[in-house]
Amino acid sequence: MKTIAIIGSGPSGSALATFLAQRGLDVTMFTNERRPGLIVGESLIPALIPVLRRLGVEERVAAIGLHKPGVSFVMSKDEKIDFCFAPVAACHLPTYSYNVPRPAFDRIIEDRALEAGVRRVAHQAKIESDGSDRVRLDAETLAAVPSLGGRQPDFIVDASGRSRMFARTLGIPARLGGRKDAAHFAHYEGFDPEEPRGQVLIGRLEAGWSWRIPLRDRLSVGIVVNKDAAAKLGATPEERLETAIRTDPALSASARNPRRLTDVVTYSNYQLVSERGHGANWAMIGDAFGFVDPMLSPGMWLALRSAEILADNLETPAIYSAKMSELIAAWMELIGYYYDGRMFAMYHTGVRLERRWNMALSRFMHRHVETHIACMASGATTQSAYGRGVIRFLAKHFIGGADPRSLAIR
Ligand SMILES: Cc1cc2nc3c(=O)[nH]c(=O)nc-3n(C[C@H](O)[C@H](O)[C@H](O)COP(=O)(O)OP(=O)(O)OC[C@H]3O[C@@H](n4cnc5c(N)ncnc54)[C@H](O)[C@@H]3O)c2cc1C
Repeated sequence: MKTIAIIGSGPSGSALATFLAQRGLDVTMFTNERRPGLIVGESLIPALIPVLRRLGVEERVAAIGLHKPGVSFVMSKDEKIDFCFAPVAACHLPTYSYNVPRPAFDRIIEDRALEAGVRRVAHQAKIESDGSDRVRLDAETLAAVPSLGGRQPDFIVDASGRSRMFARTLGIPARLGGRKDAAHFAHYEGFDPEEPRGQVLIGRLEAGWSWRIPLRDRLSVGIVVNKDAAAKLGATPEERLETAIRTDPALSASARNPRRLTDVVTYSNYQLVSERGHGANWAMIGDAFGFVDPMLSPGMWLALRSAEILADNLETPAIYSAKMSELIAAWMELIGYYYDGRMFAMYHTGVRLERRWNMALSRFMHRHVETHIACMASGATTQSAYGRGVIRFLAKHFIGGADPRSLAIR
């Protein structure tokens, strides 16, 4: 295999292009040059750091990003559960990550691909299929790359994000997730700064949840709500976001003098995974393959990790697809415990046991469980059979008197 075409120059496409160009392959990356000023995917998880290092861009990302020491879950105005990434040292990951403005982050990853020798072609790429398991670039797209000399590339990758270009063109169905949420978000100033600096806040709303992601000079604020909850908040995305900020006790307490700096952007129907991720001469990566859910922020890591896995399995795309499907399923399972309240019930049980007995054994148990959850939510062991087994066991036997339903995110 010598020539590769990648459709889309977002983070997944650009990362894959870099890895393949570094192996000496001839890589063409199509971009439609659509890069909005505001894109979700601002909060990164620690598992992404090794990928940034492999790409050689961590320092550049640190220069535009804000150090992220952990995540806090704001259960109500009076209860905040703080998780810091320190325990993930136990699973050999950096104990931090970054919050980043997406357009600048995307530019860094794309520039890296160009430095690696990738050919960037500004063209709205299209593919076609003759009904077999193979795809090819359509005539206009092929003609946009004169250096291919009219020859089809050996392998074509869909990195078109939520456009899901191959799935749409080839009629590949998607498995939909259980939640039918919409997210509305914008950048603000005038919120109280959080301690420690850079900590991401996930807030439980009366229905749905909110995020607060601190960036260097502003705060990204978003709400994730279903249709009924959205209708109660207002008729437009602006009204919904601003009503939530005004009326949610935890948000309003921190919004001292909120001023919106950007338009409000909306994302909906995002929980979907393609039923097939590869064919004889093609594969899908990043969001084009599937997206789990914004809870816990696995999206950018899954996008870059899919690039790494495909680069390592280009000759055997079926292996790539199977690995990605397992990874996505593991994240779905983990995120499910947060939505249905069992993760918070486990946490409450651990705290209660430690307070009641304050014995070495209960302290050890609590720390062990905390490390476990941190390693899974940071991406280090999300897929590990042992880790998943422990969480399943705890979710069944370690929620004591706590009622998960009262802690669920509706
Ligand atoms: C509400 C919400 C919140 C999220 N929050 C987070 C978060 O906090 N942290 C996190 O890690 N992830 C988050 N994500 C997920 C994250 O945004 C995505 O997983 C990530 O953007 C996927 O990257 P990608 O490269 O696959 O796709 P994209 O970033 O969408 O890039 C695809 C690129 O392909 C281009 N393109 C499309 N079609 C063509 C074509 N025909 N020809 C040429 N170019 C084309 C597009 O213009 C785009 O530039 C969130 C997602 C949602 C929905």
